[in-house]
Parts: sequence; C-alpha cells; structure tokens
Amino acid sequence: MSDQFSSLGLAEPILRAVAEKGYTTMSPIQAQAIPVVLAGRDVMGAAQTGTGKTAAFILPLLQRMLKHESASTSPARHPVRALVILPTRELADQVAQQSKLYGKYTQLRTAVVFGGMDMKPQTLELKKGVEVLVATPGRLLDHIEAKNVALNQVEYVVLDEADRMLDIGFLPDLQRILSFLPKSRTTLLFSATFSPEIKRLAESYLQNPVLIETARPNETASTVEQHFYSVGDDDKRRALKQIVKARGITQAFVFVNSKLGCARLARSLEREGLRTTALHGDKSQDERLKALESFKKGEVDLLVATDVAARGLDIKDVPAVFNFDIPFNAEDYVHRIGRTGRAGASGLAVSFVSASDQRLMGDIEKLLKKKLEVEGLEFDDERPRERINTGRRAWGDDDSDVPRSPRPSRDSYRDQFREDGSRETSRFSRHANAPRDPFFDKPYEAPSLPEGAAPTWEAGVKPATSRVSSNIKPKRKVAALFKTAEPAA
Ligand code: AMP
Repeated sequence: MSDQFSSLGLAEPILRAVAEKGYTTMSPIQAQAIPVVLAGRDVMGAAQTGTGKTAAFILPLLQRMLKHESASTSPARHPVRALVILPTRELADQVAQQSKLYGKYTQLRTAVVFGGMDMKPQTLELKKGVEVLVATPGRLLDHIEAKNVALNQVEYVVLDEADRMLDIGFLPDLQRILSFLPKSRTTLLFSATFSPEIKRLAESYLQNPVLIETARPNETASTVEQHFYSVGDDDKRRALKQIVKARGITQAFVFVNSKLGCARLARSLEREGLRTTALHGDKSQDERLKALESFKKGEVDLLVATDVAARGLDIKDVPAVFNFDIPFNAEDYVHRIGRTGRAGASGLAVSFVSASDQRLMGDIEKLLKKKLEVEGLEFDDERPRERINTGRRAWGDDDSDVPRSPRPSRDSYRDQFREDGSRETSRFSRHANAPRDPFFDKPYEAPSLPEGAAPTWEAGVKPATSRVSSNIKPKRKVAALFKTAEPAA
C-alpha cells in the first residue's frame, strides 16, 4: 500500500491544499485511518497529538462531504454535517484551523465554538451555516440549548482526545450531545490511551469500529531519558534551576498539578530571571494563545502548565519536560513526557518526587510495568540540602528519609564528564552508567518545523493492525453502561 496522499483518490481541491502544506507522504495514522474513514467505517484510534491525526480524520470527512458542497449563501444549504468534539479551547482552535486550511479550495465551511469567548460572534457564524463544527462540549451545549445550531443532519462525529474528555468529567455532556444526533452516522473516537471507560464509551457509541493503533498505548517513548529525583517541596524550584543550568536546557515544559501552583511557580521563576510563562485554565483565551505563541517563538524558556491546559497543544518537541509535581493521574505522566524525545531525538524527562508521592509513583510504575529508580540530587549552592521530613517515610524502602538509590560522589560525576572532554563539570546528579547524550551538546533548534519537513510522530510506530478489536462488543444501551436514563444515540 502506498503511503502517498496522491494514492488516496482524494478530490483535486483537497489534494491541492495538502500539497500546499508541503505534505506528500502520509503519517502512519493517516495511512491507516484515511482509507477506513473513506470506506464509511467507524474508527477507534489510539493516537496522540503530534501524530498527524487531525488530517487523518479531517481529509476523509471533507472528501465525503464534497458531494453536498454548495456555492449558495443560504444557511439551509450549509447544515452541520461533521461535528468534532474536543476537550480544550486550544485544541479546538488548532483542529478548526486545519479543517479550514484543508477545505480552503472547497465550498465547505468550518466554524469553531468554545467557552471563555463571547457567544454572539459564534452565533452569527453558526447561523450563516457551517458543514464542519469544531467544539468543546460545554459551549456546544449552550449553543444547542439556545437553538443557535441544529444537529439533525450530522453524518460524522469525531470524539477527539476522548480520554481527556472523560478525565475532565465531560461524559454527561457528551452523552447529552450525542443524544441530539441522528443514529445513523459515522463515529470516530481518538484517544491516547484505551482505559476501560474509553472502551465502554466506544461500546456505546461506535458500530463495529476498526481499531487503529500507531503507538502502543501507555508506552513512553524509548528516546526519553527519564529521571526521578527525591526533592522536598521547598527545594523543587532550586532543583529545577540547577538542572536547567547544568544541562544547558534551552526550553522546557514544567508541569504542575494545580492552577494556583502554576501561577505561583511561573511568577517566582520569572522573578528569579528565568523567562517563564504560565498556561492554566484561569487564563483568558487570549492570554493562553499569547503564552503559547511566545513559547513557540522562543521568547520564553519555560512554559509552566497544568495538564488540562497543555493537552493537545501543537508544540512539536521540547528538549526537556519537568514534572514539578507528580501527576495525580498516571496516564498524564505518559502524556507529559511524550512532549519530548519525539521524531527520534533524545529528550529528557525529570520528575521531582516528594515524600507524599509514594502512591502516585506506584501508579506510574503499574502503568509502565517497570520499577522506577528514584535518585538523590545534590545542590550546588552552600545551603544544606533540605531533608524530607513530612512525618511520613520518604520514597524508598530503607529506614532513612534519604533517597534509596545510592548517591555517587561528586568526583565520580566530574570524572564522568571530563572523560568526554566537551562538557562543563556538573554536580547535577545523574546515573553513573547513563549514556552521554550528544543531543544536549548542540543548540536546540526552533520548535517549528519548516514546511514540508519530516513529520514529528514518535519513533517505534507499530505496523498497521486495522482490525475489529476483540475488546469491542456490539453496541449496547448507554443506560445499562452508565446507569443513566439516557438512551444510546
Ligand atoms: P496533529 O497530530 O494532527 O496535531 O499534527 C501534528 C503536526 O503534523 C501538525 O502541525 C500537522 O500540520 C503536521 N502534519 C500532519 N500531517 C502531516 C504529514 N503528512 N506530513 C508532515 N506533517 C504533517
């Protein structure tokens, strides 16, 4: 099977838009999903942002809708035919932009609606008529209830980042939205991981779907060097600064668990002279987009973010990811560190483990199915190293509150670096046997890829396994699955 876009039989206006982007070769998810969607099948796709999954569903949907294309200005000739539902505003915005771009030589229209913005301009656009509606669940329901949009002609539904939508608690909203849609339709569900909840969602709303996997779910990219350091809460900022300096890290994501923690940390790092910006749910849409832009342009070095705000951002690769807080949800660990080490490049993921994180670390170990080594961290400055003393035992299984992995002497690190000749002496603790990584010796290149450059999907792509999942059983009533009175859509 060819992996060229030209082999798909897409209409000329769509192919022209793809060619203008400089893409000729499909990404693995595109090569697998596009023919299946063109054939009218439901899809359950395991794919993260950065794999090219947006084009994987937008291109075949545009192709299938072309037969309804109309040059008429009458709204009646432009009913909503494809509905794409996503968890965050940024993601919705990115998907809508791609849909507009790929549909620019057709008469098919795309609109996006999400919360945190005035409803009026969105309403005006909806009333003019759009074929592709990209939306976050809450705002979509607002428009449905205000009768700004009719969904009775929807033929295609995409539930994108479905796991995240469930994490955020959008399930009731999704059930409600789906209850407004015609039962005869094509449904595509994309999720980074296939949890039991996601499987239940698929069982309820997908008909005999084709399972498409491009990377094994719950697997962390093998090119990412992962470190876990035992650091007390009060020492985390110091540890972060030290590692950034010692490793010569040019740009990094710093993940925290709360909005408040996010704002505070960004402010204090900024005060200490690090170019930092924050991305969290309390920021206005405008502020979030600006934060993102300045990170992409390289105007800021550290982007401090919560999981929800960072999910789905079209930032292709960062040299390092810090877990300032260990995530509450183990799957978020995979999402977070998936930001680095893409496209075969090595990346660094550093996690700060405090005494109270034992359970969360256990969850991550279970998910990754491997034991995680927690290391000690020596500080460069004079201040004595803060010992973890929270009344609970530190992470580790010995009797002391110091980290369980042996801490090599400073000299051993110095020697190790000297051997290579090219790196400054660093007292930043590191596995004595960790391979040296030339990635960190060369300057980091700007995050945006030039037009037509090689795609950014992770290495280690699984071969096509298009088949009906043995996990997916015939459609059942939603009420039975979710114990609500709502019928299956
Ligand atoms: P997505 O996973 O949909 O967020 O896409 C990630 C990035 O890959 C986006 O910037 C796309 O424009 C880009 N992209 C999508 N398809 C291709 C392709 N076939 N070749 C190169 N880049 C692509």
